[in-house]
Amino acid sequence: MTRNSELQDFLKSLPKAEHHIHIEGSCPWDIMGRTDPQQFDTPPPSWADDYRFETFDDFEQLIFKYVVPWMISPERYAQTVEELFKVRREENLRYIEFSFAGIALEFTGLSAREIAQAIKEAVPQDMEARLYIGLHHAGFSSNQDHHLTEILDTPQIDGIDLHGPEEFPLEDWSKDFWKAAKSAGKTLKAHAGELSGPSAVREVIEDLGVTKIQHGIRAIEDPSVMDLAAQIGASFDICPISNVKLQNVPDISLHPVLKLEDAGIPCTLNTDDPFIFGNTLTDEYLAVAEGLHTSPIQLAQFARNSFTTADLPESSKLEAIAEIDSLLEIHLAAMD
Ligand SMILES: [Zn+2]
Repeated sequence: MTRNSELQDFLKSLPKAEHHIHIEGSCPWDIMGRTDPQQFDTPPPSWADDYRFETFDDFEQLIFKYVVPWMISPERYAQTVEELFKVRREENLRYIEFSFAGIALEFTGLSAREIAQAIKEAVPQDMEARLYIGLHHAGFSSNQDHHLTEILDTPQIDGIDLHGPEEFPLEDWSKDFWKAAKSAGKTLKAHAGELSGPSAVREVIEDLGVTKIQHGIRAIEDPSVMDLAAQIGASFDICPISNVKLQNVPDISLHPVLKLEDAGIPCTLNTDDPFIFGNTLTDEYLAVAEGLHTSPIQLAQFARNSFTTADLPESSKLEAIAEIDSLLEIHLAAMD
């Protein structure tokens, strides 16, 4: 066995939790092809390792080409989630925080409640899942109050996230709604510091009260933002392959994830949109391992972070971490 395949096996075997994955970006290609071979005859070109998106618009074009015609019913959401868990089970996933897009309500005419119910019913009994709804910066184009009230009243929705192109400044409705969601017991997230600079990370921390930042990588450009994030105990849910393919970092060897981790911000590794990027969760660990020459000790730390920052009972976290530690010990011993 080569060293690389030993590393790959080690990474695959680690118990993992994923915190940043879009359900619409997780379409099940095999099933799509069987369901509608004409519509879905060629997979996205972005599966190629060396594919780079020129603009965020190009990424959205793929969403319109593949995702919008697929995600048309609660059943399709359920099917997508079932298939996602089949893949992740092979990678020893124990816990997931995934999101669906609020904008889908406008495309499909479905309600947040029916989508959320279908998704939660599709989660296997032995997996832990927390569901987020991602809201666009501009909110809904109509029936905003109705949608927002329903989100707060839907128990299957565990939290809210800010999605879409990061256009700033934040609008007042979002500041009010993030406050209302917190009072309603929802967990708060926001995409920031991916397309926009470090001030966006500061803004979602200070104005939305968010501690779970999606991406956050451009915080690296401002030490005061990194200090703030570390001080308030923020964690960054990072997607290295997405960052490279969308050219938010020029090359994986320049990815700031290790520097953010060194600055005291716990980082997790995630796939973002595995259907678009053609990646597995293990691929993300492997990309960081190879691109940044990361030690198995640090790679295991990313897996640990995925449990310490999870919404799980302390006993489950400790159990997973003990398993990670023992797998690491075996792996290190085999390397000697
Ligand atoms: Zn994302």
